[in-house]
Amino acid sequence: MTNEANPFESLQSQIDSAAVHLDVSADVLERLKRPERVLETNLTVEMDDGSIEVFEAFRSQFNGDRGPYKGGIRFHPGVTRDEVKALSGWMVYKTAVVDIPYGGGKGGVVIDPSEYSESELERVTRSFATELRPFIGVNKDIPAPDVNTGQREMNWIKDTYETLEDTTEPGVITGKAPDSGGSLGRVEATGRSTMLTAREAFDWLGRDIADATVAVQGYGNAGWIAAKLIQDLGADVVAVSDSSGAIHNPDGLDTRDVKAHKNETGGVAGYPEAAEEFGNDDLLTLDVDLLVPAALENAIDADLAVDVQADVIAEAANGPLTPGADEVLADTDTYVFPDILTNAGGVTVSYFEWVQNRQRFYWSEERVNDELEVIIVDAFEDLVAAYEDHDVETLREAAYVLAIQRVVDAFEESGTWP
Ligand code: GLU
Repeated sequence: MTNEANPFESLQSQIDSAAVHLDVSADVLERLKRPERVLETNLTVEMDDGSIEVFEAFRSQFNGDRGPYKGGIRFHPGVTRDEVKALSGWMVYKTAVVDIPYGGGKGGVVIDPSEYSESELERVTRSFATELRPFIGVNKDIPAPDVNTGQREMNWIKDTYETLEDTTEPGVITGKAPDSGGSLGRVEATGRSTMLTAREAFDWLGRDIADATVAVQGYGNAGWIAAKLIQDLGADVVAVSDSSGAIHNPDGLDTRDVKAHKNETGGVAGYPEAAEEFGNDDLLTLDVDLLVPAALENAIDADLAVDVQADVIAEAANGPLTPGADEVLADTDTYVFPDILTNAGGVTVSYFEWVQNRQRFYWSEERVNDELEVIIVDAFEDLVAAYEDHDVETLREAAYVLAIQRVVDAFEESGTWP
């Protein structure tokens, strides 16, 4: 990750560049560029050895014009207030692009979870849930998993909330394990929408994804599932990476076997069937048909973008390209399918989970996947229509044009008070 861009400034510049194509007044625009509120808290948690540690944590509620705030909670040592603010804004525009009835929020705890025991992580999570309790709610703000959090943490948050509120309210959080009210298909959803977006993108460009070569940066939940599902369409996944390193095989890697290796050894590095190991930047600049950045923000900055050779980029991560990288790529033949569509499968199946929780009626995995496909394909069509109808330079601008208009419509229909 480079230090080139503050993600919050990136978000604001993305909104500005889309807004010139819309009839939005400057004062309304200003509102769309800032969070409504940010909770900043310091969690005091007892460690296994009896000592006390303090962890900074944030929850940003960016905009609720279209519905309750919605978005994940990440555990990462690099979490900052500005990063959480940016991520919460991206959630607003993400839920608007796929047209599900939510606003946007995001949370983060400054912690490297690999350095703590499970019981310490449970106390950190429950402590954060206790701080969050007055802010969240099934109709107010609904957290979910994000980087380094998953079903386990969501179950702890649900349990803490329900215990403190003396109720059962599984819809207060999504991304839970199925036995605790989670939805089938939720774990795979981000990777699945990445695959669907890539498939539709190749189709739109008059190409067949089955003939594509693919590189995937990041082999966590989003990256590995995207790699697997895209390989299942017939494409050759020739390079993948994670924090342990990057591996390359021009004849294609067996994505499931790479995952088994990662499960055994902790990373993709050292995978025996790789023809070579190289650096993360080599992967990002590899001459492939499809590049899937699926790690953190700012993976590709303007300097690196000059060397990017992929024809299509599908952003499975949030904010992997800096605005500088966008500017460079806008002048090339590379099509960038933005995060707020590509990875929206996660929040979309969170929406299905919330609907199932509220109805106390659970769907089959097949139904979840079918309904997700309808939403992503419809959003893809709306996006390319916006791209073709407006004089925009990039698909990202088109996505923001579409999303901002939806948020502004909701805001203007409701009016301001007091
Ligand atoms: N953390 C995911 C995202 O960035 C999912 C959020 C959610 O399910 O609410 O979209």
